[in-house]
Amino acid sequence: MTPAKSSLKNTRAAVIVIGVLVSQLGPAAGNPSRYEYFRILMGTKMRIVLYAESQEEAREAAAAAFLRIQQLDEIMSDYNPDSELMKLCREAYQAARPVSADLFRVLEQSLRFSALSRGAFDITVGPVVDLWREARRHKRLPDEEKLEQARRCVGYKRIVLNAENRSVRLRLPCMKLDLGGIGQGYAADQALAVLAARGIRSALVDAGGDIAMSAAPPDRSGWRVALQKTAPGVEADAEDLTLSDCGVTNSGDTEQFVELEGIRYSHIIDPETGWALRDSASVTVIAPDATTADALATALSVLPPNRGLRLADSQPGVAALIVRRSGEGLTKHVSRRMRQYLEIR
Ligand code: AMP
Ligand code: MG
Repeated sequence: MTPAKSSLKNTRAAVIVIGVLVSQLGPAAGNPSRYEYFRILMGTKMRIVLYAESQEEAREAAAAAFLRIQQLDEIMSDYNPDSELMKLCREAYQAARPVSADLFRVLEQSLRFSALSRGAFDITVGPVVDLWREARRHKRLPDEEKLEQARRCVGYKRIVLNAENRSVRLRLPCMKLDLGGIGQGYAADQALAVLAARGIRSALVDAGGDIAMSAAPPDRSGWRVALQKTAPGVEADAEDLTLSDCGVTNSGDTEQFVELEGIRYSHIIDPETGWALRDSASVTVIAPDATTADALATALSVLPPNRGLRLADSQPGVAALIVRRSGEGLTKHVSRRMRQYLEIR
């Protein structure tokens, strides 16, 4: 999350794994017009495409949606020591701390995806992520002892939420929460909700690769999203999907990796070992909302492909494409619903 360029997550802004192709043609008379806006927020390039009756309406709606994202960044950033999240990490060991409705909701969702993925998705990886960020900066593998120490601070079951008074308690003093695997998806969903509340029916919010979209553009059957079927840059075999009222996201190691001693390490960590992933080339998830797509894409990067596909198939409206890298090249694993999207029998 957020403004620093060094963030492993943030470099994803450069990965156009999912390019959204929207017609540049003007609308038919009487239809709302298409407007597009960009802003750098959460350390990544944010894009809003929306259909509105007037430029004024469009501009004001987009400004409100961007403001919502900015507010969420102030809550969830792990680079800003004054963010609500970072303050919580410093204080919540002493005693349970009350938090904002947004932070509580993201934490609740995070724990839900941790439980669903049996810990493959785990926002308590913060101390381990810090060591891998350092490794990336210094181009040196993390010290094994430090890694082991950091790993002992990981474990989503050590986050205690109390919905009655909306408070959070952390069971260990060394815990650090990292919302990099879910925060942008949540921000995209929330920005889309702001647009909907202003009467914008048809919009798409792309929060640096985590995309939330509402109804199809006027006179179209959906938003056209280019899905890269293998790791980007390896093979040009993108396929256009037509989507609406859903979220879509991609987790990949194409831009966000560090190569050490000839091995490519992803920005995603296996919470069980504390090691950065080495074989996950790309995971694309379509889900009912962008929060779900974001969290599941991270989880499915960690899980063995067969378990990942089972998890995807068990969730309503979820489709997944998992691409793994090995000595022999790339292997694709396609979930049931993704087969339907790709029309594979
Ligand atoms: P994404 O690009 O959505 O897959 O998120 C990756 C980011 O989430 C990383 O840069 C870390 O900040 C954080 N992260 C890394 N590993 C995990 C994990 N296993 N579970 C949850 N978040 C993670
Ligand atoms: Mg994610």
